[in-house]
Parts: sequence; C-alpha cells; structure tokens
Amino acid sequence: MANVLWLQGGACSGNTMSFLNAQEPTVVELVTDFGINIIWHPSMALEIGQQVTDILNDCISGKIHVDIFVFEGTVIQGPKGKGTMNYFCERPMQQWVKELAAIAQYVIAIGDCATWGGIPAVPPNPTDSTGLQFHKKEKGGYLGAEFISKGGMPVINIPGCPAHPDWITQILVAVSTGRIKDVLIDSFHRPTTFFSDFVQTGCTNARAFSEKVSGGFGKRGGCLFYEVGCRGAMTNASCNRILWNRHSSKTRANHPCLGCTEPGFPHHDLAKGSIFKTIKYLGFLPKEVATGENRLSHYFKSGVGKIIGSSKKIFKTTI
Ligand code: SF4
Ligand code: SF4
Repeated sequence: MANVLWLQGGACSGNTMSFLNAQEPTVVELVTDFGINIIWHPSMALEIGQQVTDILNDCISGKIHVDIFVFEGTVIQGPKGKGTMNYFCERPMQQWVKELAAIAQYVIAIGDCATWGGIPAVPPNPTDSTGLQFHKKEKGGYLGAEFISKGGMPVINIPGCPAHPDWITQILVAVSTGRIKDVLIDSFHRPTTFFSDFVQTGCTNARAFSEKVSGGFGKRGGCLFYEVGCRGAMTNASCNRILWNRHSSKTRANHPCLGCTEPGFPHHDLAKGSIFKTIKYLGFLPKEVATGENRLSHYFKSGVGKIIGSSKKIFKTTI
C-alpha cells in the first residue's frame, strides 16, 4: 500500500497523459490490485479549491501520510526567486514542493522538466525553471544536491519527454511493494533497469548504423544517425526494448531519437541547425558519436562497415 500525491509545476501534462495510457498495469489496476492510493492528482482527483489546500496542509502536518510525492513539470522560481509565476493553492508552488518533499518517504521526478528543467529551462529561461535535484547536467536543482528523502533516497528521476508509462508504473509498484531499495539508480538518479541500455539496443536500423547506410524520416532501411540527428547511440533508454504502446518506437517508425532521457535535453539548447540534423565537422564527420566510442575509431569502424556492407551487397547481386 502506498499513498501517492502528484503535483504539476511548469508542465504540459504530457507525463500525466503518458501515465494514463499505461497498459500493464493500467492506472485502474494500480489502484485496485497494486495498493496505490492516489491522494490527489491534478487531472484525476475530484477535489478543487480549498479542498485541495486542506489536503496539502494535512499532508504537511502528518494527518495524511505521503509515501510518494510525484512532481511533474519544472519548479518555477521566477520572478527573482519568489516563484509567484506559478501560484497554486494560495502559495507559490515552490513552497509546497519544498515542504512536501521534506515529509514524503520518497520523491519522484517524472519527465524532463521535473528531472532537469527540460524545455522551459532553455535560455533565456524566463520563468527561472529548474528540476527537482538537477539543473540540466548539474546536480543541485531546486532541492539541492544533498537532498535525501525520509525513506533514504535522493529524488528518483524518471526522465523522458514524456516518460514511458511502464517506467512510471513499475517504480510506483516497487515502492508500494516495499522493493524500492532494490532499485539501483545511476549518477543522474535514473533507475538502471530502464536507463542502462541505449535506444539503439533493439533498433531495427542497427545494421544500417554499422554499415553506415544513411536513412531519412519515415524511410525504411537506413540509419537516422548520419543526416537527421538520431541520438539513439548516445541515449540511455529502453524505448526499443519496452516498446511504446507495446508496438513501436520513434526509431522503428524511422523518426530520429531526440535523446530525451539524457540530462541536458533539449540538446544544444535548441540552437538553429541542431534539430533533426546531424552536426558535423568539415561538413561530413558527425561531431557526436556513440557513447563510450572514440571519435577516430568510430570513423574507422563506420568506414570499414560501409565497405564490408557494400561489398556484401555487390557480392550478393553478382552471384
Ligand atoms: S542511430 Fe538511431 S536509427 Fe540508427 S541504429 Fe541507432 S537508434 Fe537506430
Ligand atoms: S526514442 Fe529517444 S526521444 Fe524518443 S522517447 Fe526514447 S529516448 Fe526519448
């Protein structure tokens, strides 16, 4: 059994929409079969106005026990640290966040905005938005680098734009069944079970990547790394292992991975020429290569892969 309180800061509700699309288990099954009790959620709860303020105050006073405090969206600190750009239940949201994070057993940041600021934190960041415990790649964020919840864990980050529903539901179930301490997290506080493989793991274009066969949007049979900026080789996420809607993924539909589960997303702060485009040296060498790969060895291997791949094709056509 776990009491879950879910609030939203600077957000588009995308993670809520993703959560509501969960299939195994569904949100209803989370409640009926997995012991999740939703104290309040902005899109699902019936209480409004003063009733919500009363619930939040009861949580802070201890009258209602909060096992999991879920936050979606950025913490808005503007203007000038006052946080009044995001008023909620008669106070700046940032004040509720600080007090609720202090009383909850576990704090979970869902989506890029809550984890490290996401799109709202792109300069000039007019709302002074930040994530709960990271600001882009820097540890700190709103709660500070040293924050540890009552249950003994830092903020658990489930990034994504939005996060995959299974990443959310399985972490909630881990808390409700008392197994959250078995969940390992990486240096960016992401559960390793979902964020140690790369998006490229399971991508149907992986062979084209090694043979350096370039593809394009919606075009079958090529890799999206070479021209249209796919970040699947440098993005830790299970999108091609735990498929979206049990059916597909961006790269399986031949849409480049945008690297949305990595801190710093959106990469290059949305600079002109950095979106859906591979940034290159000298006009032909990709500037960013697969994580852990040395640039020179990448260029060498991809060159060899292309030659071997091509000669195989030539050989096949001539016999
Ligand atoms: S770079 Fe993208 S499209 Fe190419 S193999 Fe990797 S994940 Fe698939
Ligand atoms: S494929 Fe890439 S951009 Fe798409 S959800 Fe997965 S990590 Fe994010």
